[in-house]
Amino acid sequence: MMKHKTLPFYKVLFRTIKYGYSRLPLYFVLFILVCFALASVNFISINVVQDLFDTIANVFTTNEWGKVASSIVFAGIVFVIYNIIVGLHDLFKWSYFMVFMSKILKDMNAKAGRLSLINFESVELYDKINLAKGGVRYALNSTIDLINGTIYYSLFFISILIHFMSIQPIFVLICVLCFVPQVISQMVKGSKLYQMQEKVVTAQRESEYFRSCLTERDFYKETKTLDARDYFKKNYLSKLQIFNREKWLTELKIGSIDSVLTLITLAGYIGSFVLLAYYLMNGQISLGEFSGIFYALNRLMDCTKEMVSIYGSIYQNASLAGKLYDFLELPEDAGVDKQIKAINSITLENVSFGYPYKEKNALENINLHIKPGEHIALVGLNGSGKTTLIKLILGLFTPTKGRVLYGEEDINKINKPNIFNKSSAVFQNFGKYKFTLKENIMLSEIEKEEEDDRIKDKLELVGFDYKRKGIDNNLDTMLSKEFNGIDLSGGEWQRLAIARGLYKTSELIVLDEPTAAIDPIEEANVYRQFKNISTGKTSIIVTHRLGSVKDATRIIVLDQGKIIEDGTHEELLEQNGLYATMFHAQAGWYER
Ligand code: ADP
Repeated sequence: MMKHKTLPFYKVLFRTIKYGYSRLPLYFVLFILVCFALASVNFISINVVQDLFDTIANVFTTNEWGKVASSIVFAGIVFVIYNIIVGLHDLFKWSYFMVFMSKILKDMNAKAGRLSLINFESVELYDKINLAKGGVRYALNSTIDLINGTIYYSLFFISILIHFMSIQPIFVLICVLCFVPQVISQMVKGSKLYQMQEKVVTAQRESEYFRSCLTERDFYKETKTLDARDYFKKNYLSKLQIFNREKWLTELKIGSIDSVLTLITLAGYIGSFVLLAYYLMNGQISLGEFSGIFYALNRLMDCTKEMVSIYGSIYQNASLAGKLYDFLELPEDAGVDKQIKAINSITLENVSFGYPYKEKNALENINLHIKPGEHIALVGLNGSGKTTLIKLILGLFTPTKGRVLYGEEDINKINKPNIFNKSSAVFQNFGKYKFTLKENIMLSEIEKEEEDDRIKDKLELVGFDYKRKGIDNNLDTMLSKEFNGIDLSGGEWQRLAIARGLYKTSELIVLDEPTAAIDPIEEANVYRQFKNISTGKTSIIVTHRLGSVKDATRIIVLDQGKIIEDGTHEELLEQNGLYATMFHAQAGWYER
């Protein structure tokens, strides 16, 4: 089961380095080298400045004008090299970012595909995906900044400190005075931002949802007819308000802490300048040293700012980047290779199943054996566990307890694609794809050759009138008004979805109430035909309309997660239990 945990900062750093290196080792190493070169040339430039000033200051006593000229030329060369390396560094950083970005997005997609389906049943996963998406850029920046920060800035920083130590150790203290407040300021910013992120993610998702209810085409008709605009608007605004309030409070806290720390940094900077002037006037340092230190101090201030903001942003981003790693570490479907040739029989042994974050099991101790070729109807009230049972049978979910077997084989040990390509399922919330009629059918076996006759055959079987006005026998009719096509009615979409399910060559076919938009008598017709069409296959039909399935070979009644009745229509009427009661209550639905 999933837990909503957060990776600690040090783990994020560790993951960042590991991930960065494992995904792009060559870029990783090259970037380190470029950063190393930049730090070296930066340090050299300070010595060059110092040397240049000393040579110029001494020229009047030594008269070595040639030395001045060569110092100037040398400084010029270093300056050009410095700029070339800076350009290289930026260019490399940018291309590293782009290549890395595409790698991460690929990893995320691949991961989503490997996740166990049960994850998609929980809101927590959607929060995780949203946060992970937000984390991509940050994970990237963190990796690049970490290399940059560690190699370039640290090396530069350390070399300057050693240089200062050799001249006047007190400058080291001043550097630290400038440095520490900045670090604290960035760390505070990071943790506050992170806390806000955690707090607002639900409000953000909800406000996004209410906004879509107000503006998107799928909701538009209902929003209008229900006159629900004001309700959605009120909710949208209130969630947005929560988000904004949190953001404002965070900014306020960050701002006040920042101002105090900036003042301390400024004091350190001014102090160091005064001290430097004092040493120069006392003759404790030369003019060259004064310029070198002054130049270095300025570079150092800039670098401190950049470095602290980089480490700050790593710290700040760590929580967000951590979301990406969190997501990438979610448990996956076990990678099993076992293949089966055929499903044969289906057996459920003491199967129980509970959804994540739900206390009560949706299914409790189910024992069931389905012989090949049986036509099963699964009936029961809403929430009795029909869909859950179907998803377990199809191998979409794994039982919390017990086993599902195809023939003798536990399906948990069979390769997932191998399971899925043996069955065909049409669910209540089937896809209404904005493709052509043909594509909408072929989607279940997209890699196969087009077979117009077979498509028409299936459409006829489910009673889809492809000769009607608007479609006029043309399978390439686009099924979307947005793309200059036509709109289908709800009933037509349902028939189409069933035809799609039938089109796929499979041993097991499942219809999980895709017929709610068809009237009961029509549904009964579709199901009667369906039984004929699926001769030779095992079929399972889920419905709460009992009249539609009375000629199924076997009817299974679920109630509160348990099988309470199992038999033919006649047997169940005889038993006079829940099925009989429901059947009599619905009898009127089938009279015209
Ligand atoms: P049916 O198909 O008979 O209407 P379901 O199998 O959909 O029943 O649901 C069985 C039980 O599991 C119900 O109590 C329902 O609330 C719960 N349930 C279904 N889907 C989820 C989910 N995604 N997360 C948590 N509980 C769920």
